[in-house]
Amino acid sequence: MIDVPMAIVAVDATGTVRCFNPAATALFGAALSLRPAVRIEGLIDGLALPSPVDEDALARFNGRGAGRAFLARQPPEAGVPVEVRVATFRVRGEPLMILFITDVSAREAAGATIEDLQQQVTRNWRLNSLGEIASMLAHELNQPLSAVVNFLDAARTLAGRELVDRSRVVHFITSAEQQAQRAGEVIRRLRALLARDSGFHAPEVVAEVVAEILPILSLSARETDAEVVVEVPDSLVVRCDRVQLQQVLMNLVRNAVDAPSNGRRRRVLITGAAIDRGLRMTVQDNGPGLDPDLRRRLFAPVTSTKPAGMGLGLSICRTIVEAHGGRIEVVPGTLGGAAFAFTLIDGDARVQG
Ligand code: ADP
Repeated sequence: MIDVPMAIVAVDATGTVRCFNPAATALFGAALSLRPAVRIEGLIDGLALPSPVDEDALARFNGRGAGRAFLARQPPEAGVPVEVRVATFRVRGEPLMILFITDVSAREAAGATIEDLQQQVTRNWRLNSLGEIASMLAHELNQPLSAVVNFLDAARTLAGRELVDRSRVVHFITSAEQQAQRAGEVIRRLRALLARDSGFHAPEVVAEVVAEILPILSLSARETDAEVVVEVPDSLVVRCDRVQLQQVLMNLVRNAVDAPSNGRRRRVLITGAAIDRGLRMTVQDNGPGLDPDLRRRLFAPVTSTKPAGMGLGLSICRTIVEAHGGRIEVVPGTLGGAAFAFTLIDGDARVQG
């Protein structure tokens, strides 16, 4: 493979350049600088960047992955044809954009080999998101798969007894089967989440959505003798992805149950109420509360105080809630421990804007 350097420039939401690599310096020369700060649009003819928080505009900009053609200004010369692709990322909550700028005049000289380079870049991008999906899956599948093992274990113990209570054995095997199906469903819904597919959204009776996961929540709660109380009115209905709402609740309850003991029997309270165009739910506990050092980066991935924690639960919750047009935040609770509240905006209201 030949060495075709790709210029990489990070800019903020106003297009002001925040950092760049040596290949970008080679491409733009002294015109590219941090002091004085320059705007990337002044360096590339016709470039109009989308907003970093507008995913659709970003997808439109990147088109079908071919990269957009522009002319990079290189005074006093006429300019160099370039292709630009944009990706977004966040640094301490600030949305930034990273521009991958390929000098396409070099492509001609490089011939077909540049295709290899581009394929490799695309492959790397895909691998990155695959890594993200793999960790999300590992995190979310842990719970249903442990439940499968527990239920089958219970079934085996019962089946091994002299007097076999067949109905209880069948009950545990059925429960295991349901959890295995749930695992499959979680995979499908996570895939939909990452593809931003809202095809799974349907009007859901929230009390039923919660009741469905109560057995598995109780299983987690039983490990530490915790009590899970649900106060959700039967009348509460919201158009949402049922399995994803369950994932959010399971992650929040799991955290409430997992928090270190403070000597009191752990109580977890799940409440739900209608809000304008959607619903607001809270999950709170009477545990030790949140570590103050952690609060600022609580929802960022890989933030964990647990020895075996992946630090993904809250970040997955946030992804799901935001995909539902809602917000998740820490709120003052009434039980003395941690309290999280999240909103989900009804699918129909979201479509209507
Ligand atoms: P993980 O559960 O893998 O650690 P999370 O993103 O779900 O990842 O949680 C991040 C961290 O937030 C936890 O490690 C814990 O320190 C803190 N946390 C979350 N919920 C609670 C809670 N209910 N009580 C105390 N700490 C909590």
